[in-house]
Amino acid sequence: MIQKNRLSWDQYFIAQAAILSTRSTCNRLHVGAIIVKNHRIIASGYNGSIAGTPHCTEVGDLIVDGHCVRAVHAEQNALMQAAQMGISVDGAELYVTDMPCLQCTKLLLQAGIQTIKFMRDYHNDTFANELLTQKMLNYYKSPSNQQQLNKLI
Ligand SMILES: [Zn+2]
Ligand SMILES: [Zn+2]
Repeated sequence: MIQKNRLSWDQYFIAQAAILSTRSTCNRLHVGAIIVKNHRIIASGYNGSIAGTPHCTEVGDLIVDGHCVRAVHAEQNALMQAAQMGISVDGAELYVTDMPCLQCTKLLLQAGIQTIKFMRDYHNDTFANELLTQKMLNYYKSPSNQQQLNKLI
């Protein structure tokens, strides 16, 4: 029997990233990121301040050049969680709600992430794109079922 509402792997992981984004403590864009290997979630993160320090939601964002510098980005938090736990992310896939910024793109490439799947286009950086092309990294918009996502988040 075919399950009508069964999510594909891509839809499932992007939905997980979307759920995580609701934990964000920055007042700017809420971002969630999941690192996946062999259909298993090995690390995850959302954007927020350094653990144990005040949240943007408590003391306000710290804006420099139009960006909040208090929050650690979701992708960076996912990578750091893996580092803290001693988990290799080499060859893994990243599912993220929003297209990564230049700094995150550099770190993800350097950590050995092979595929980046995102839900929303966001200020696409030209140099980040150039790096992704040079590294021949698979990079695409994940097919998300917006109706199902709206029910979840
Ligand atoms: Zn903030
Ligand atoms: Zn970033």
